[in-house]
Amino acid sequence: MSSGGGRVVRRRRCGSFADDREYGESCFAFVRKNHSSKFLSSLHPDSVRVNLITSQLLDAVQRNLDIKGRDASLVHGSPCKDTSLDVRHAIQSKKQGKPCRSQPQISHLDGLDWEVIVVKNDGHVGAMSWPHGKIIVFTGLLNHLETDDEIATLLAHEIAHVVARHPSESIMYKKWFPFPLKVHFIRRTEIEADHMAMLLMAAAGFDPHAAPKAVEKLIGNDIYHLSGKKRAQLLSRAKIMDEALELYKEAKSSKASEVNFNL
Ligand SMILES: [Zn+2]
Repeated sequence: MSSGGGRVVRRRRCGSFADDREYGESCFAFVRKNHSSKFLSSLHPDSVRVNLITSQLLDAVQRNLDIKGRDASLVHGSPCKDTSLDVRHAIQSKKQGKPCRSQPQISHLDGLDWEVIVVKNDGHVGAMSWPHGKIIVFTGLLNHLETDDEIATLLAHEIAHVVARHPSESIMYKKWFPFPLKVHFIRRTEIEADHMAMLLMAAAGFDPHAAPKAVEKLIGNDIYHLSGKKRAQLLSRAKIMDEALELYKEAKSSKASEVNFNL
């Protein structure tokens, strides 16, 4: 999936969270200006479906990373430190009931104005995200996938990019790294986003078995993405699938408890 797409308005080194959001807003303003006539209404069934799924995924982000109330001073280290690994560690620590050794750098998510917009374009099987929490999903992707679990896989992938600050990293790689390294590092962010997405969707109660199926249906159309088949193979590895299934079972049992409590 694309990330940080649209016209690059201003290029700079991986900067502050405010810079990230400003960059995202600039890019998204360009997209809105040129394509808003294709934005589906929030009441359109596709928009309602996608927003319901996203809302469950974002609830899982909040629950697992304890974003609310996090002190911005917890952000430490150099810019573009491997946030995604910190986030994965936070999820694993929570799952194992252990304290997190290092606080994940997630203050950039505080107060983020998440919004998912469906764009009418049946020929585009994809989605895009920006650092200020805006996500675009093309109708081509929705037509290509079947179940809510599969759609959750790709929405979680876009959310993972934002959580891990991948758009900011990608800008840095594109500007400062020679071509082969640039490709290597951006591919790495895509693999990380797939892995994080599978954990996130599972924690939100979506079946992680759908993740390999969903990515396998995608046709890699650029050098920054592995083929759908290779992505599916990586997500099907027993260690990663077992990790996700554990989160999925917890989410399902937690939802069952809520239902019983409310009866
Ligand atoms: Zn992606």
